This record gives sequence, structure tokens and C-alpha cells, in this order.
Amino acid sequence: MPPLNPRLLAGGLDRGPRRKSAAEYIEGVRSGNRVILSQAITLTESTLPEDQKLASDVIHACLPHAGQSLRIGITGIPGVGKSTFIESFGQLLLERGHKISVLAIDPSSERSKGSILGDKTRMEELSRETNAYIRPSPSGGSPGGVARKTREAIILCEAAGFDRILVETVGVGQGETIVHSMVDFFLLLMLPGAGDELQGMKRGIMEMADGIAITKSDSGNETRAKIAAADYRRALELFPPADHGWKAEVILTSAMSGMGLADIYCLLENYLEAMSRSGHFQDRRKSQAVYWMNEYLAELVKNRILENRESREYRQDLREQVTAGTLSPFEAAEMLLRHALDS
Ligand code: GDP
Repeated sequence: MPPLNPRLLAGGLDRGPRRKSAAEYIEGVRSGNRVILSQAITLTESTLPEDQKLASDVIHACLPHAGQSLRIGITGIPGVGKSTFIESFGQLLLERGHKISVLAIDPSSERSKGSILGDKTRMEELSRETNAYIRPSPSGGSPGGVARKTREAIILCEAAGFDRILVETVGVGQGETIVHSMVDFFLLLMLPGAGDELQGMKRGIMEMADGIAITKSDSGNETRAKIAAADYRRALELFPPADHGWKAEVILTSAMSGMGLADIYCLLENYLEAMSRSGHFQDRRKSQAVYWMNEYLAELVKNRILENRESREYRQDLREQVTAGTLSPFEAAEMLLRHALDS
């Protein structure tokens, strides 16, 4: 059997006749060329060292041209209507002259080996629009790895001139925390008929929301949707007011009829305006950047220590003591760190 192509195995570039130079990627991205934008994003997802070096040069050069967008996180349980909402709301954004990019985060794909967001054909109409760019979720990996790939995709899309970035994730597991910490506005989609769902909803997710859209408020769902909206408004009232003064709003929407989509647009624009004026918008981005620096550092350090071949025996020894209950896990972690720093 012929050996497998190591570039493919490592998620390396499998498209294009040859790897481009950094200048060619940068030039292509900056000119809004979607094929080169796609290739540049693929490059950032590669695990090959030479691709990573090139990717980091491209990202570095694009950074000064990034940031000029509103990054919108969209989350909700499977079936709540995320892709239908994005399809309709995306069209509204295009009509208002925006260039939009839709990125997906799906931290479930690694564990289940099947992606919740991935397989169905999503947002078909939107994907045919020249001013829309849709990118499926990066393949699995650690939360830090997924976050890094998504943040780099955001930077590249912004440098390519996209000014509304929608980051979609399934509202199960840790996806929403990752998305929340990399977007300017976090929109939670909820089904009409709150009741039990509200009980089951993790409080933390509601607290993160900058806005809630009740989906499918049509075809006989109207009353249930209104009741749900009232329930959510009451639930939001219970949270202490945020220091930046923004209060999450609840809006009834229907991606089918288009109801409420213009209200969501206004909500986002008001947020952008008010939070830019108060400085919160910029502060949130700064603290997100520092947050990811620290998160990623922690992950790098941990991987470096746990993958270090030389200290394998020492780790094994500590693990045995921890499982035997003769050593505290915390003390063992400190010993491992000290051992790594000294070696
Ligand atoms: P996702 O899993 O969150 O991306 O949900 P989908 O967008 O795939 O939608 C799930 C189901 O809800 C599909 O059958 C849609 O047709 C339906 N749906 C989505 N939005 C609406 C809406 O505004 N009104 C109605 N009546 N159905 C909707």
C-alpha cells in the first residue's frame, strides 16, 4: 500500500498546486479573494510546523487590518433554528450592505467523531452570495486549539473586509463559553414554550447573553412565544445589573416570516453604538485577548509537561502515589511543575 500523504494526515494544505508565499496569502486575503481566504484559514488549521510558521506570519501581517467588525456569537440547542436564523438574518445583513462571514465552533466533533453542526448542508442560499463567506467548524481538538483556530479565522475574515462575523455554536457543553469569550455580542436562541426548558437551561448561559431571540414565533406558536418571552425577561431581571449598563433584551423572531429580524439588527447596532461610546466594547476585546493568552499559555505548559518524554517515569511515579492516596493531586501538580522548570 502506498504511504499516506503526511500533509493530509497532519491536516496540511491539500489544495492548490503549491504552498503560496506569505505575501501571496496576505495580498489575496486583503483583496477579499475568498479562495485564498479559505486556503489561509486551512493553513492556520494545519499542524505541520512549516505551515504553522507561515500561518503565523500571515496572521501577524493581517492583525493591523483586523478588528473592524462586529463579532456576534449565536448559540442554542440543536433544533432551535440556528442555521435557519442565520440564513434569514444573513440576508438582512447583506441587504443592509454588510459583508458577512459565518464561522462555526463545534467542540463535540472530537469526542463523538461526528459533528452536530457539520454534516447537513447548511445555509445553502447564503453560501451562494458573493458577500457572504461560510466556513464549517475546525476539526476537533482541545478548547484552546479550537479557540485559536476560530480567532485566527476571525482575524483573516476581518482583514478580508467582512464586517459582521457570526460565530455559531451548539448550546451544549463548552462551546458557548468559548464563543462568549471571543465575540462582542452573545445572542442566545430559545424555543417558544420556556417552562421546563428554562429550568434545564444552565443559569450561566443566560447570564452571558447580551440578547435572547425566541425562535419560531409563528404558525400557532405566537402565544407560547409571548409567554416564553415574559418568562425570560423575568429571569433576566434576577441577574445583578452589569457594570457596563447593558440589559439583555428578549425579542420574538421567526426566520420563516422574517418577524423580529430587523429588531435584532437594531439591537446589535444599538449595542455597538452604546458600548463603543462607553468604551466597554474595546475593553471587552482587550480582556478577551488577555484571557486567551493566559488560557493558551496554560494549555501549552500543560501539554509540554505531560508530553515530555524524559519525565515520563517521574510522572508515572507521582500518578501511582496520587491514585494510592499517599500524595495529594495538588502537591503532585506542583512537584511536576517544579520538576519541569528545573530540568
Ligand atoms: P439548528 O439545529 O439550531 O441549526 O436548527 P435548524 O435551523 O436546522 O432548524 C430546526 C428546525 O426548525 C427545522 O425543521 C426548521 O425548518 C425549523 N425552523 C427553523 N426556524 C423556524 C421558524 O422561524 N419557524 C418555524 N415554524 N420553523 C422553523
